[in-house]
Amino acid sequence: MFADIHLHSQYSFDSQELMENQVKRAVETGLPVMCFTDHIDWDFPIPEMIFDYDVDQYMEEIASLQERYSSRIRILKGVELGMQPQLGDRYRELLQKYPFDYAISSQHLVEKKDPYYPEIFEEYGDAGVFRKYFEETYENLQAFHDADTLGHLDYVVRYGQNGAGEYSFRRYGEIIDEILKLLIRHDIALEVNSAGIRKGLGFPNPHPDVIRRYRELGGKLITVGSDAHVSEDVGRDFPLLEQILKAAGFTETCYFVERTPVFLKI
Ligand SMILES: [Zn+2]
Ligand SMILES: [Zn+2]
Repeated sequence: MFADIHLHSQYSFDSQELMENQVKRAVETGLPVMCFTDHIDWDFPIPEMIFDYDVDQYMEEIASLQERYSSRIRILKGVELGMQPQLGDRYRELLQKYPFDYAISSQHLVEKKDPYYPEIFEEYGDAGVFRKYFEETYENLQAFHDADTLGHLDYVVRYGQNGAGEYSFRRYGEIIDEILKLLIRHDIALEVNSAGIRKGLGFPNPHPDVIRRYRELGGKLITVGSDAHVSEDVGRDFPLLEQILKAAGFTETCYFVERTPVFLKI
């Protein structure tokens, strides 16, 4: 059994889903725990895309859902922070100011460009962009290691011009190892994000080879999320994640309450 602790709603610029629809779907799916993690991605390089919201209102709406659904599901208050080198202090302040249960650090950019668009791939090629993505993830985590988990570690490979054709753990093992060791050193969990499966990769982010490697290096903290921006994706492909995690030797995952891990047997 898993908690789905990577979920978006209309508070995220790229989702129109009502929070209550996400809750209803999570209850239907039989999830014991869910956590909203709407995007705060300040200084996003595309000015018309504003990944920000009124956090007081966000907290109030979650509190009211917690009250109404308390007998059916545990609902938690989280945030997904888009990392950039200049944002560390502002994110630390945000996490001090509001009572989030959980914070995800995510790398969404490469050289201040959104890899969702082909431009950066035309400049560096798939392999070049992938490498830069991992290097920037590492640098950002060095400067800001205050979140509870690293979101979708190899997210960028979703957008390669040849898909994940130029990606393997082996090819980027050295830099991925440095990222995994840094997570372990700072007690940051590794997120297993099922969106990669439905976005055409056929595997979650990160790839099962990376999940196995994390365990080999001594990693123990796994979080799980669907990254659903629409309600039909809540809890999506969790049976496959279960197989992957068990095969890698994990027997439990965790979710966070008041920034503290709570373990859940798989
Ligand atoms: Zn993300
Ligand atoms: Zn997300």
